[in-house]
Amino acid sequence: MSGPWRNAAVTILGSTGSIGCSTLDVVDRLDMPIYALTAWRSVDALAAQVRKYRPQVAVIADEACYAALQQALADHSGTELRAGAAALSEVAADAACGAVVTAVVGAAGLPATLAAVEAGKRVCIANKEPLVMAGELIMAAAKQHGATILPIDSEHSAIFQCLDGHSGSEVERLIITGSGGPFRTVADLSSVTVEQALKHPNWSMGPKITIDSATLMNKSLEIIEARWLFDLPLSQIDLLIHPQSVIHSMVHYRDGSVMAQLGMPDMRTPIQYALTWPEHVTGPVAAPDFTAQNFTFEAPDRKRFPLVDLGYAAAEAGGLAPAVMNAANEVIVERFLDGGCRFVDIFSCVEQAVAKHETCAHPSLEAIVAADAETRARLSAAL
Ligand code: NAD
Ligand code: MG
Repeated sequence: MSGPWRNAAVTILGSTGSIGCSTLDVVDRLDMPIYALTAWRSVDALAAQVRKYRPQVAVIADEACYAALQQALADHSGTELRAGAAALSEVAADAACGAVVTAVVGAAGLPATLAAVEAGKRVCIANKEPLVMAGELIMAAAKQHGATILPIDSEHSAIFQCLDGHSGSEVERLIITGSGGPFRTVADLSSVTVEQALKHPNWSMGPKITIDSATLMNKSLEIIEARWLFDLPLSQIDLLIHPQSVIHSMVHYRDGSVMAQLGMPDMRTPIQYALTWPEHVTGPVAAPDFTAQNFTFEAPDRKRFPLVDLGYAAAEAGGLAPAVMNAANEVIVERFLDGGCRFVDIFSCVEQAVAKHETCAHPSLEAIVAADAETRARLSAAL
């Protein structure tokens, strides 16, 4: 374990979440220094992480929770406590930080993701929504500022590994796999419950992405994420359902050769690779037992899961459509999780929001942020 990555002090944006906790496990095992940890409102969880991992800085994004964090850590020294959304961008861009893991959920992670990219960091991206909203701007900023963007999302980590530096011109298509979620074989989705939707068959994740996996919106977000990360047209990005979640995605090359990356469904593998690339080093996850199960594949059911086609359409429309789709999805998923609407209402709400959006080619960051805010305000008033 000799690579220069080893001494890079890590900032974890969203350290108290599912990806955040897995990242801490990986960073701890690799004995990498930690620069900053951040959370939204989880004071107790953040305070416990600060005591255990002793970062230089800890940020609570919701300023209303600052006093509680100070109190919880009154007897702790050596960690500077900060509050507010802007402090996330500060710790992502600070000269003392060498690598940033983006593990905030949703559009809230956009400013800090951009700040890390503009500071030229090694940016390990789990937080896919900013790429969906502003992928064109983020990739251009990475080029301009010399940032290294490394995917954590398992499908994109798989594609990144299968590409292994090959150029897009050698590629016939990318094949993004997905488990199909808990309702893959459920014919009627009109009365499924929050509890059922939260039971993902293979992955343990935060609530928002678990619902996105049940609606297949997660695959739509991932198609757009892949488009920007790998700079390939949508016509070369396919979806394939693979219920076992062992093949994390594939690259079909022009000569008929197909490369796949396999592993157990445990996010610590792609998190670790993003942190240690280009090295594969010892990690906590065992390889799959190939005699224990068969691998199966099927096409996604685009009729029962209309957000797949909507995702392609929004991606094709480009401009503000992906940001509007993402904002509508965030609002309605939160509503569903609170018991305020039916599962199938997620489909109609997101479809209607995208149908209404205004077209705008190559939008500025300000236009994207405004479209996100307007969509949220309109839906919150209507729901
Ligand atoms: P989570 O809900 O478990 O954790 C989210 C984290 O972000 C928490 O630390 C929370 O405090 C923080 N946060 C939430 N709202 C915030 C706000 N407004 N401002 C600042 N911080 C805020 O989410 P997760 O499942 O870990 O997912 C994180 C991101 O990674 C998502 O974009 C998701 O799509 C992506 N991702 C997750 C997985 C997974 O296995 N969980 C896999 C692939 C990609
Ligand atoms: Mg994924």
